[in-house]
Amino acid sequence: MMAGTGRAHLRSVGEGEGNPLDFGLRDLVGGSAQTLQRTRGIRTVGQLLDWLPRTYLDPTRPTAFRDLPHGEDVVVVGTVRSATTHQMRNRRGRRLVVDVADDAGGVIQLTFFKPYGHQDRLRPGVRVVCSGQIGVWRDTLQLTHPDYATLSESGEGAAQWLLDGLVPVYTATKGLSPIVHGQCLELVFHALDELPDPVPRDVRTQVGLPGLLEAYRLVHRPRAEADHRKGHWRLKFGEAFTVQAQLARVRRSSEAVPARPRVPADQGLGHQLRQRLPFELTEGQEEVLAELLADLGREVPMHRLLQGEVGSGKTVLALLAMLAVADSGGQAALLAPTEVLAAQHHRSMTQLLGPIAEAGLLGGLADGTRLALLTGSQSAAERRQALLAAASGEAGIVVGTHALIQQHVQFADLGMVVVDEQHRFGVEQRDALRAKAPGGTAPHVLVMTATPIPRTVAMTVYGDMEISTLRELPGGRRPISSFVVDGQRPAWVRRTWERVAEEVRGGGQVYVVCPRIGDVEDPDLPGAGGDGPGLPLGGEAGAGEDGDDGADLLGALEPVEGAGGPPGLHGVHQVARCLRELPATRDLRIEVLHGRMPAEDKDAVMQAFAAGRVEVLVSTTVIEVGVDVPGATTMVLLDADRFGISQLHQLRGRVGRGGKPGLALLVTQGEGVDPAAMERLEQVAATTDGFELARLDLEGRREGDVLGASQSGGRSGLRFLRLARDEELIVQAHEAAWRTVGSDPDLARHPELADALTRLDATSAAFLERG
Ligand code: ADP
Ligand code: MG
Repeated sequence: MMAGTGRAHLRSVGEGEGNPLDFGLRDLVGGSAQTLQRTRGIRTVGQLLDWLPRTYLDPTRPTAFRDLPHGEDVVVVGTVRSATTHQMRNRRGRRLVVDVADDAGGVIQLTFFKPYGHQDRLRPGVRVVCSGQIGVWRDTLQLTHPDYATLSESGEGAAQWLLDGLVPVYTATKGLSPIVHGQCLELVFHALDELPDPVPRDVRTQVGLPGLLEAYRLVHRPRAEADHRKGHWRLKFGEAFTVQAQLARVRRSSEAVPARPRVPADQGLGHQLRQRLPFELTEGQEEVLAELLADLGREVPMHRLLQGEVGSGKTVLALLAMLAVADSGGQAALLAPTEVLAAQHHRSMTQLLGPIAEAGLLGGLADGTRLALLTGSQSAAERRQALLAAASGEAGIVVGTHALIQQHVQFADLGMVVVDEQHRFGVEQRDALRAKAPGGTAPHVLVMTATPIPRTVAMTVYGDMEISTLRELPGGRRPISSFVVDGQRPAWVRRTWERVAEEVRGGGQVYVVCPRIGDVEDPDLPGAGGDGPGLPLGGEAGAGEDGDDGADLLGALEPVEGAGGPPGLHGVHQVARCLRELPATRDLRIEVLHGRMPAEDKDAVMQAFAAGRVEVLVSTTVIEVGVDVPGATTMVLLDADRFGISQLHQLRGRVGRGGKPGLALLVTQGEGVDPAAMERLEQVAATTDGFELARLDLEGRREGDVLGASQSGGRSGLRFLRLARDEELIVQAHEAAWRTVGSDPDLARHPELADALTRLDATSAAFLERG
């Protein structure tokens, strides 16, 4: 069955030739190597060891044969009671039937249609371990052509390991016998003397960790539960440690290129803006601002993430920081994820800044600055003017979309980049930025996000950045109440639209969010208009693609399956048309907004909504990020069960921004709502604490989703860690890793760690760079 020759071979393959984890399996386990590769894609020692048991069986508490689950893959141990060969009745050939008994007297029948070779080994009295799929024939439990191994009294049998402690159980794999797999592991363990350990000895001692090889043994060959727990913990720690060390090194390399310190003038532009602001900064804002200004004053480039709920007042802080840069004669760029947002930022900043941004204009501040807007949809003339303002240095602040840094936009002296609502900001983008800063320097970078990030994710995904958090909303903000509306109940749905009308009559404005754009020609929703219940949910199939950039933006964290998905999801056009016919809403001023509209139309609609000329805005998730219309008090989310927790929370953050209480109505799909989705909706309705929701969200996800690896089709870069559960461990690993890299930046004294970093696979590297 096995043709491994173990230790001698590994030595000859391995001596001085790299990490044994990379060795191929053929020399160690012979022909089984091919089976491992075919069935599980396992080629190397490391891959074999990394496939961890799903659970463990305790052989001191054996399952009696009669309790075995029919149809499942099992591993059983018993004693051969009899073995007989029968002539087959209807065909030529013979059949070997072996009765194996457990200690409780239960019997399993092993059947072989090719007895050759088995007769000699399966003699009465021999202890045998077998695996296969349990079947039943004439009231008898059967294993047909099982894999098996015999066990000797002296304990020297090839499958002896099965009897020595807990029995590891791996995910059943067609074509791969657990016994063969177990024996491959045996051979590998036998051949390995030690494994290079990326976790340095002093860290292991301090944390109390077994070495790497020992950890694999504890996991694959535990004697007791405590063993595999310890081994598992150690494997996770090693993974967290390696990731953290990588982040620490990324951080160091981004510090290698200096930044120009940007110190604001005493009575400079920031001071002027603060005089103009119609509000006081909160204590939290003051603290963060101090952090930002301190960063800007250093020669090490700022690399900071500012997280805070929608409306927590991040933008005004970014503006103050950008003014500090302008003050010192430099320029700042603000990158927004969509044109709508870029235009909105430009508008609200122009308003906030007033004369400060009108240098050289009549009534402008003499030593003020200028604001430029750069978007893809501008006219050639507008664009030329903005490009010129950026290149000449006339514009102290340039606002645009993320594409700005990819394009050939020249700056006279780019000192700072603020990236708004961006989850991914890769090394490539950082390089592009550097190319725009004055020679030999890097700009300061501030990334802002309204998605509250659980600590473990922040440490793992943004671990190379400093993090500032705004925890409170500025005064005057009212909480949002949220309710789940059962879309299958016409009365509830009707009430929803009546509520929308009441809201508008009371002076409010309403967002109606749909998961897709749909076609203008999409058929009416049944019952809309007339005297039906009004917009019962469940539209018709349509061209579903929602090409919104806003939807893409959070796509990494929030896959919305509605895009191009199954029929029955509400489309913007459909819903708008129906609302224009529905008695309750037909007199309201209704407009649509989605990502496929020309930028100037989008902009015009947003402006009309912001000015209160539009009362109901039917849109896709393009309004998700950052859009700020103080008059909006209510949001109706259609097919709300199609959205993830964070996205729902983001979306509803659009309302209640103007001092009036906000209301979010989460309307479920017409039929077949997934219970898990229902639970999500209830959770979102129950709390407005973004961090709590982010934590719940994380628990419901696979690591790959969290880290965005699922997008590239690959598995998560993490093999063992669970970000929702391993907080304490990650914190410990973080501290140890940053200490290690701090004391040995080039890792000259830690070659095993250096090697492990180069081995981080492509997906890990990708998620670490978020690019
Ligand atoms: P964010 O970018 O975090 O979503 P914004 O900076 O857009 O939040 O702020 C939301 C609204 O609150 C804006 O209209 C802003 O002018 C206002 N705002 C910011 N800080 C304060 C404050 N300290 N007190 C009152 N209003 C504030
Ligand atoms: Mg914002």
